[in-house]
Amino acid sequence: MNPTQYLPMRAKTILNAVSAPNMPFDWSINPYRGCQHGCSFCYARSTHAYLGEAADDTFQHRIFYKDDAPSILRAQLQRMRARGKLPNHVAIGTATDPYQQLEAKARLTRGCLETLAEFGVGVSITTRSPLVLRDLDLLRSLPGVSVNISIHTLDKGIWRTFEPSTPSPRRRLECARTLTDAGIRVHAFAVPILPHLTDGEADTEALVDALADAGVRHMMSSFMRLSTPEVKGWFFSVLRASYPELAEVYGKLYWHSAHLPASYRKPVYARIAAQMKRRGMSEIGAMLVPRGDAALTLGSAPAVSPDLSAGTPASEAAPAASSCQPVQLALF
Ligand code: SF4
Repeated sequence: MNPTQYLPMRAKTILNAVSAPNMPFDWSINPYRGCQHGCSFCYARSTHAYLGEAADDTFQHRIFYKDDAPSILRAQLQRMRARGKLPNHVAIGTATDPYQQLEAKARLTRGCLETLAEFGVGVSITTRSPLVLRDLDLLRSLPGVSVNISIHTLDKGIWRTFEPSTPSPRRRLECARTLTDAGIRVHAFAVPILPHLTDGEADTEALVDALADAGVRHMMSSFMRLSTPEVKGWFFSVLRASYPELAEVYGKLYWHSAHLPASYRKPVYARIAAQMKRRGMSEIGAMLVPRGDAALTLGSAPAVSPDLSAGTPASEAAPAASSCQPVQLALF
């Protein structure tokens, strides 16, 4: 499907309350619906159906943007401040990437950051794009800011197969380096780990080493979660096209469940934890990841998780998902 279509949507509010009790933040902002990065494992793909859109590559090529998001956010924050209930912290990009390609022109994420800075509200951002560096001036001025860089492999072939339009792993590592050098707290979200593709000992060690060399000291990792028929179907179509020899293996692993069995996950998480420890890195799961599947699953809806699950203990408590962030569907 081409070319990409950009569709404005009016939102009454920009800040969305996060009701899940175990989430590490109370409010979220997602300026965009749909994501031009088009990752085949993205859990947010399912949410396009809420707009009456298909969950196939329409998710990548029909992008909805919240027109006038900064001014709507400002009005919302003014009302909250008048009630003495200004948020302490807001998570940006809990569902779709706030620095996808359109942001370079639309500047909605930047506008929201400027507004949050006016009110002194802290921010965490999750992205796969070094476009976040454009807003380094604002990041420096916000309280308690952190940037979560999602990166799950250094392998160029695997990266391009499953992330058709994201910036390269090398550019994300350079982005992490620039942020850490600027004094910005960086978390690496090594998600989603793909069984039999990116979970080999040499693969995870290379990723941990590259992140450590980039100055990253905090990381979470999580295996892929295929939570809905839409996501599962799209991922398998990509897998079959590029790695047909793995289709049967993946079918056995994911046919009856959204996530891998613990017997598969645990040894890999333990090994990654050891690799991180060797490089002086700490796991961020306990801080960032919901402590139970209930927090990730809304009824029968797709669990949301994304790039927020974590190392051994946390990941075991809440097998991660896939998108750029771990969250729930209500976060739009
Ligand atoms: S995983 Fe993140 S970057 Fe990839 S399509 Fe989903 S929201 Fe976009």
